[in-house]
Amino acid sequence: MPLKPILIAGGGIGGLATALALAQKGIASLVLEKASALGEIGAGIQLGPNAFHSFDRLGVGEAARAMAVYIDQLRLMDALTGAEITHIDLGETFRKRFGNPYAVVHRGDLHGVLLKACRDNPDIELRVKSDVTGYGQDGGGITAHLATGERVEGAALIGADGLWSNVRRQLVGDGAPRVSGHTTYRSVIPTEQMPEDLRWNAATLWAGPKCHIVHYPLSGWKVFNLVVTHHNAAAEPVAGKPVPDAEVHSAFAHVSERAQTIIRHGVDWKMWVLCDREPVERWTDGRVALLGDAAHPMLQYMAQGACMAMEDAVCLAQTLADHPGRIEAGLEAYRTRRLLRTTRVQLMSRAMGEHVYHPEGPHAALRNAIMSAKSQDEWYETLDWLYGGSGLD
Ligand SMILES: Cc1cc2nc3c(=O)[nH]c(=O)nc-3n(C[C@H](O)[C@H](O)[C@H](O)COP(=O)(O)OP(=O)(O)OC[C@H]3O[C@@H](n4cnc5c(N)ncnc54)[C@H](O)[C@@H]3O)c2cc1C
Repeated sequence: MPLKPILIAGGGIGGLATALALAQKGIASLVLEKASALGEIGAGIQLGPNAFHSFDRLGVGEAARAMAVYIDQLRLMDALTGAEITHIDLGETFRKRFGNPYAVVHRGDLHGVLLKACRDNPDIELRVKSDVTGYGQDGGGITAHLATGERVEGAALIGADGLWSNVRRQLVGDGAPRVSGHTTYRSVIPTEQMPEDLRWNAATLWAGPKCHIVHYPLSGWKVFNLVVTHHNAAAEPVAGKPVPDAEVHSAFAHVSERAQTIIRHGVDWKMWVLCDREPVERWTDGRVALLGDAAHPMLQYMAQGACMAMEDAVCLAQTLADHPGRIEAGLEAYRTRRLLRTTRVQLMSRAMGEHVYHPEGPHAALRNAIMSAKSQDEWYETLDWLYGGSGLD
């Protein structure tokens, strides 16, 4: 065990998961979070079975299972006709095949489970108001530079500081993230306001020309999470800006009445313009490594960004434990093991936006023909690379 802690820039889902994963291996860490409090914004998050593989390895399996809503289906609807295109059953057969369920949770609840476990662990120190601006290193250790001018020493530095990562800026230097032009609006509505015939125990996804709608029950069925996206070629990145209802309604005026009804129930809409990056091979620099969105930011279309961050955390702790006293080799082994899996999810997330959620005309008709022809077994086969393993064993 190193005498100095591993420094983790960022106390989001990826950073906290990393601290927990390291603690499981007896490795001490210090989380340096820029914000003045640890927390998460936004409402719902979908978790594939691979997230639950990670929860168990992080030692929070029971707490994570207790906060989740277990949905029965992923259901894809045609937003123009209002008809179902296809669905994937998430019941017993799915759970048996992939070893874990599919669930939806509140982000705050998920972050809270990780945070409580970190606070309860003597190997983890959490510091807020600690904006990591860069790092320096020599053969013996690493120094994180904070915006205050303070220098913090550690055995290694993990950049889990998200899409706009400062650690990445120094390590990769690939400029600002790519603005996708896709604008997402998020709202949460009480379950009794959700149209009764759409109160499905499913993650329901409506696909329409340059737009899509997602809804699912959350927080013990008290509310429905609404996430609606419009590919409007927005040029500037935005995160969490309040917008008037009329802006959201006008973006979906072309979809079926059934789909519009859902949107009309939304209140207090907030807007994000989504960004990602090109996959890169360089995730490490000596004793420094990137993790989660700092390493492989992706569009939300596969609902896997947080799942990948937690897998990264588990893998990183394992490879460091496999290379005692050889941190650089441990980080390199982590990079090698995670690169192709995360690259695949990054690229497929883009492709799903283009070919599943936003097409129109013959492109949409082809989507409907291909996707509606698949049997449940064929769907499970298609998803096997993602849910069947976690790349961790
Ligand atoms: C609309 C939308 C829907 C999504 N849906 C899903 C889903 O259903 N399932 C799923 O798995 N994923 C989903 N994701 C992706 C998921 O939210 C992210 O991939 C995940 O939160 C990344 O976690 P992270 O810890 O790597 O980064 P972040 O969550 O961005 O955390 C980074 C942390 O670092 C801190 N920080 C930033 N800069 C510094 C600094 N300089 N110094 C110190 N700290 C710093 C930040 O304050 C923050 O706490 C979705 C994303 C979006 C936008």
